[in-house]
Amino acid sequence: MVGRVARRRSPGVPPIAPDRRVAAMTQSDPAPTATLDEVRERYQRERAKRIRPEGVGQFQDLTGDFARFDADPFLEGDVSRDPVDEDVEVLVLGGGFAGMLTAINLRSHGVDDLRIIDKAGDFGGTWYWNRYPGCMCDVESYTYLPLLEETGYMPTEKYASAPEIFAYCQLMGRHFDLYRHALFHTEIDEAEWDEASGRWHVVTDRGDHVRARFFVTAGGILAKPKLPGIPGIGEFAGEAFHTSRWNYAVTGGGPTERMDRLADKRVGVIGTGATAVQVVPQLAGTAKEVFVFQRTPSAVGERNNGPTDVEWFKSLEPGWQRERIRNFTQAVTGAKPEVDLVQDGWTEYMWEDTHVKTDDPEEAAALERSDFESMEKLRRRVDAIVEDPATAEKLKPWYAKHCKRMCFHDEYLPAFNRPNVHLVDTDGRGVERITAAGPVVGGEEIPVDVLVFASGYEVTTELAGRLGFDPRGRGGLALSERWADGPHTLYGILSAEFPNMFMIGIVQAGFGTNFLHFLSESAKHVAWTIATCEKDGVATIEADPQAEEDWWHVLLDQSRMIAGYSASCTPGYYNSELSRDEKTARNLVYTGSILEYAGFLEQWRDADDFPGAKVVKGP
Ligand code: NDP
Repeated sequence: MVGRVARRRSPGVPPIAPDRRVAAMTQSDPAPTATLDEVRERYQRERAKRIRPEGVGQFQDLTGDFARFDADPFLEGDVSRDPVDEDVEVLVLGGGFAGMLTAINLRSHGVDDLRIIDKAGDFGGTWYWNRYPGCMCDVESYTYLPLLEETGYMPTEKYASAPEIFAYCQLMGRHFDLYRHALFHTEIDEAEWDEASGRWHVVTDRGDHVRARFFVTAGGILAKPKLPGIPGIGEFAGEAFHTSRWNYAVTGGGPTERMDRLADKRVGVIGTGATAVQVVPQLAGTAKEVFVFQRTPSAVGERNNGPTDVEWFKSLEPGWQRERIRNFTQAVTGAKPEVDLVQDGWTEYMWEDTHVKTDDPEEAAALERSDFESMEKLRRRVDAIVEDPATAEKLKPWYAKHCKRMCFHDEYLPAFNRPNVHLVDTDGRGVERITAAGPVVGGEEIPVDVLVFASGYEVTTELAGRLGFDPRGRGGLALSERWADGPHTLYGILSAEFPNMFMIGIVQAGFGTNFLHFLSESAKHVAWTIATCEKDGVATIEADPQAEEDWWHVLLDQSRMIAGYSASCTPGYYNSELSRDEKTARNLVYTGSILEYAGFLEQWRDADDFPGAKVVKGP
């Protein structure tokens, strides 16, 4: 029976600045605005409007004429250098948290001969690229930022802003002496396994040639921006860019400075996901007019950010961060820990894991009601904040709570009370067309000077496409060929025919609210495996095809727990835009808790004989 266990407040929750409490006052509990039957029917109606036959094919990737949307706007000065020709033990693709944590773990095991390659100009990954105004982490910093006890760093706020997180990545780079391993502004063009030398041969766009015994792909899940494939998108004559390549030359200002070039500009924002929720309030305060083009509204709860209580932070006992990370994941996956250490919107709304499947009709009804009540609360929050009833109605999310990433923000909804902010709701259909002047909705052209695409990333499209090259394993076999019918992996990390290649990404691996929890566990596992291979004289390690199938069935069984829920959701990247065929179905993530996923990895390490992997000993 589903019962709401009261969350006990942790004595260590930092205080919130009083002026940030405004939004909290809007959440009284009046009568629901609709019955459960009405809501069910409404959810399905809204979902039906949004289903597109093109599925994930509806997006425009950043190639050809659109490659300019992918260029690095933060590139400074001349970054040319001589090509590198070298042999290393480990080559890590990616200098974001996953790559850095892999390197740090390898170093702690004594593996120091490593190279990190990234197309960005510094460490940081997503935090290098995402410098849009208002960018911040939606998971609290004490839980999200890795290795705080090791670096001795105290985040300034409960929810750290992007510049602080980027600076923390650089601090990690210095603290763990990672810069000497890095080649930045460098993209891998080719990676091929060479049987004779037992090495990966990797060629980059800078003419480097690196031969590595182990190859780790940690390219990030939010690394490949996408544009909506709206007809005419290339015809827009004004300035246009994606949020992850924010063009401050156009807007003026910087991540923490006022965008002074927008005062006389009409700015359009396409998309209303987690990114737009952070961007719109910033534009609202600086641009002459802001037009927010909405296909599906986000569910936006209160944020309540505030400065870190220094005394509280100093009082934390060694081991506190590991415990807090664990506690947060338990709290947002229905495990109901005795104490809720983080006490925020995530732990409040996700306390009940309502998307699990149960055969008990009473329990199923209770779960549905709990989900409905959470979303009702968020819909009521819109009514309480947004003054114009028609605009409020359009900003209400009509889907279940696990369908899209929930957002938390205290300035997004109030932005729609400003006279210069206009919601252009497309009733689920999206922008029809883009002309030289601007987007067209309902046959009406809305002229803008600047168009911001807050349209997200490729998350579960083919790995070779997302990496930007097609790794070649034994006998020159391309990953796209081996995975012609979809991915085959052991824990999402190893694949047969690709010896000594380790993947850190969500496909067939873990996923959860605190992505850093998943990355930390994956990096620890990959580094342990490589270090153990080195110690035990293992020449090659790869997945056994049978073990890949066994893992696939674990993923399938687990996903059946939420299959009905996910299929009844409005489309989005969580459910591959509802366009799963047999091939994309294999892009599943492990839909249980990160703690369970980490448990699989831990068991594997404890077994000590690499179960499910084909291992060849040798020099
Ligand atoms: P999303 O994919 O979540 O959102 C893309 C938006 O573009 C959606 O609102 C989508 O509408 C809209 N869109 C797509 N095509 C069209 C169209 N033709 N016309 C109009 N609108 C369209 O991307 P985000 O960048 O917002 O977020 C991606 C992920 O990044 C998040 O889920 C989160 O994991 C992460 N993130 C994390 C943050 C953090 O603080 N940790 C902050 C920001 C992002 P529709 O919903 O209908 O598809």
